[in-house]
Amino acid sequence: MVLLREARAMPKVTFVHNLKPDAVQAAVSGMSDPAGYLVAPGNATGQGLELTRFVRGLGFDLLVDNGNFALLGPIGRQFGVEARTLHEEVRTAERALGRTARGPGDLPADLSARYGDLADRVRRAAVDAVPADASLALAQDALDPTSVIGVEDLTMACWLRLDVEPAYLRRPRRAYRRMNRSVARRAVRAAAARGDPAAVPTLPVASALSFNTAKDAGREFAAAGLTSISMGFGAYMADDHFTDHLYRDRRRIDLGANLPQRYTRTVAAAVGFWEGYDEVAHRPPARFHFLGVGAPIMIALLALAARRTPELSFDATSPILDATQGGTIYSDRPAHLKLRTRKVAHRLAREPALTWDCPCPFCTDFTGRSPFDYARGHAWFATTGATDVTTADLAPGGALFEAYPLLSEPAAGELRREVSYARVGHNHWIIDRLARSLTRASARGTLPVRVTSIIRDYQARTTPVFARAVEVGLQLAAG
Ligand SMILES: [Zn+2]
Repeated sequence: MVLLREARAMPKVTFVHNLKPDAVQAAVSGMSDPAGYLVAPGNATGQGLELTRFVRGLGFDLLVDNGNFALLGPIGRQFGVEARTLHEEVRTAERALGRTARGPGDLPADLSARYGDLADRVRRAAVDAVPADASLALAQDALDPTSVIGVEDLTMACWLRLDVEPAYLRRPRRAYRRMNRSVARRAVRAAAARGDPAAVPTLPVASALSFNTAKDAGREFAAAGLTSISMGFGAYMADDHFTDHLYRDRRRIDLGANLPQRYTRTVAAAVGFWEGYDEVAHRPPARFHFLGVGAPIMIALLALAARRTPELSFDATSPILDATQGGTIYSDRPAHLKLRTRKVAHRLAREPALTWDCPCPFCTDFTGRSPFDYARGHAWFATTGATDVTTADLAPGGALFEAYPLLSEPAAGELRREVSYARVGHNHWIIDRLARSLTRASARGTLPVRVTSIIRDYQARTTPVFARAVEVGLQLAAG
């Protein structure tokens, strides 16, 4: 007898780890079980090349990036001063308006014209910087990938990085759409040139600056028959600006407050992409990779927004940078938060009942060798009554350096290496656990409930403005 089950959307959610020696060591030692690794062709020389061969030999998936992320920095620097000067003028205009600019009509005419000129020059630089499609494919194939990030027009990513917003430009919606149409056609040609597309799936990169531009991108990628797709989200996540509205088709949605675009735009772009794609293809993309998303709360929201696609993956360097440079460690109990190590240290010092009880193999292994000395922290707080922990307190010679080794910032050397290894491994472990829990929830048909509960827990522990931003994200994603 055949049991017929109700067809259910079941995204498998995975986080692809950046290919670094530590990440490979973590897997080889059994401390982590990554879904696969991501490497950019430019980083796969010498030791990097050996690592790609090693992980392929072990049977891991290898997603080879297109390397374009590395081009954003130089272009950002080339035009950065000019872009910041123009943006100061936007702020002046917005202060006079009492709200954020909604279109070029809100700005002085010459400012919008200068933005148009800057946008043109950035576009030329972005187009020139990207290597020819054929040479990209050659460099990628040389690494024996199991899938690759495909062709891309870097223009919108550069504009985002430089705060060149559509609202400042007299540029019609179809101009953005044309860029995605051209990428989609290049992707089709590149796939034909590559031969059997099933052998190594290629995920060309859509780009967008908003819900509407993402919707058009979805329409164009669907029209070209592309089913495995990626999109760059790193620039949205790096955006520190606020907005009080967003457009969904012609309708302006007022957010009622100035909210961080990082959250609102990221989800709006995903929702727009799926809407446009579905409108043309009458089904969702089969596979989608979110480039540059490592914030747990965003992984949850985007998985919900993209829940009709069976295979969803994410990658980012932020869990590594947060652990090694940002003094930031992830937590998922009682909520998915990025915690400052200094704040964790202060809580441990002032609340004697608290301990760092993370069960992950990285924290367990590290604290087995370099345990927390809680009594020392309590004594420090009892003596000083300090209202916060400073960077110096956790640096060598600092009052809490030896009390909280996992949270400390040793100088270069063996302890530094161990601390970084533990914290990077821990951050990845938290993300992997989240990805598995989202996959399980979608298999049970309870993804919306699970993500709503993640958001509610987060809202209870963040500031009102961030709580509202993720609420906007949740409403958009739940659609
Ligand atoms: Zn841990």
